[in-house]
Amino acid sequence: MLTKINDIAGLKIFMAGIYIHIPFCKKACFYCDFHFSVSFKKKKEIVGALIQEVISRTDFFKPKEIIRTIYFGGGTPSVLSLEELDDIMAAIHSHYTVAQDAEITFECNPDDLNFSFLQGLKFAGINRLSVGVQSFDDDHLSWMNRSHNAHQSIQCIHDAAQVGFNDITIDLIYGLPQLSNSVWESTVKKAFELPINHLSAYSLTLEENTPYSKLVKQKKYLKPLDDGSSEHYTILVELSQSLGWDHYEVSSFCKKENYARHNKSYWEGIKYLGIGPSAHSYDQEKRYWNVSSNDSYLDLSRQNGDYRDFEVLTISDQINEKLLTGLRTKWGVNQQSFKLKYGYDIYTLFEKEINYWVSIQWMVKKKENIRLTEVGFLFADHIASSMFVDV
Ligand code: SF4
Repeated sequence: MLTKINDIAGLKIFMAGIYIHIPFCKKACFYCDFHFSVSFKKKKEIVGALIQEVISRTDFFKPKEIIRTIYFGGGTPSVLSLEELDDIMAAIHSHYTVAQDAEITFECNPDDLNFSFLQGLKFAGINRLSVGVQSFDDDHLSWMNRSHNAHQSIQCIHDAAQVGFNDITIDLIYGLPQLSNSVWESTVKKAFELPINHLSAYSLTLEENTPYSKLVKQKKYLKPLDDGSSEHYTILVELSQSLGWDHYEVSSFCKKENYARHNKSYWEGIKYLGIGPSAHSYDQEKRYWNVSSNDSYLDLSRQNGDYRDFEVLTISDQINEKLLTGLRTKWGVNQQSFKLKYGYDIYTLFEKEINYWVSIQWMVKKKENIRLTEVGFLFADHIASSMFVDV
């Protein structure tokens, strides 16, 4: 048994990922607290600096570490021109070892995706599209200040399938104060009719320092739904189950085993390099983060490239992170690998908490792991934080 675990651990050592943050958006969605700019004046320079960072960070990986996933996120990667994307891809391929079957995901907004751009993405090596659909209701989309409409979403997903993208995921948002259960149900049904094999759904949240939080403070907008949000979640879970989709992470659903490999590798603690303003990196001992400002990123990039800060993760940090990420997935937290990695027996360390969460049926305790139930998923962060340690 031990050999097998070593084999698995050995495999993981060789897997790695790259995340590229494209810090531009055409419009500011009013709930969003990611780092982005709506001014494109410095786009060309930022792309140059990103490429410079790709080239200068090769020492982040050991020679045997192979890139199994690349993820373009943001911001909005689909504001890149195909030439800019090609230049970034060329830099990655010439400086890193990328697996032949690597998952290469590209986040995009529907209004950027015409047929020829989609063909260009395919030609550039993108093999998975993540489309920010959010809603099929035009009023809700404009309420959120999204840059596209529902027709564009549906059209671009069909176009993408026709171009030959087999792996398409979409994002939806629920919990809007004006979103009724019946409209949400028809949204989900419409989503499952599209040629997609993955769906991520997020509850609208009120983040500090966003236009939305200011509007709510000024009483001009309503807060996101609270109880209604869990009703939306239940509708989504039940519909996905009736169609045989796999609810494998709190916010993630897929057909068959089309898991989001890049996200899954975050939850599994696999090493990744983040490129671009605000991007985070993780090398299994430290977490690094780049400065969250396009101007500072450019200035520091011209000076010395010193735009990265880091923290050393203590054993408590690592355990708490494992609880936060592992309990959000259907695989839960595995007893044996937990012991192997952190030196503690999970059932002894968390005996009281596990017994309690199991007693109210929010958690299932098996011989090999603990995992949350569908109801438990609704409170995943709360359950994980109840088990946080300081050892
Ligand atoms: S497109 Fe995405 S990153 Fe840009 S503002 Fe909207 S939610 Fe945020």
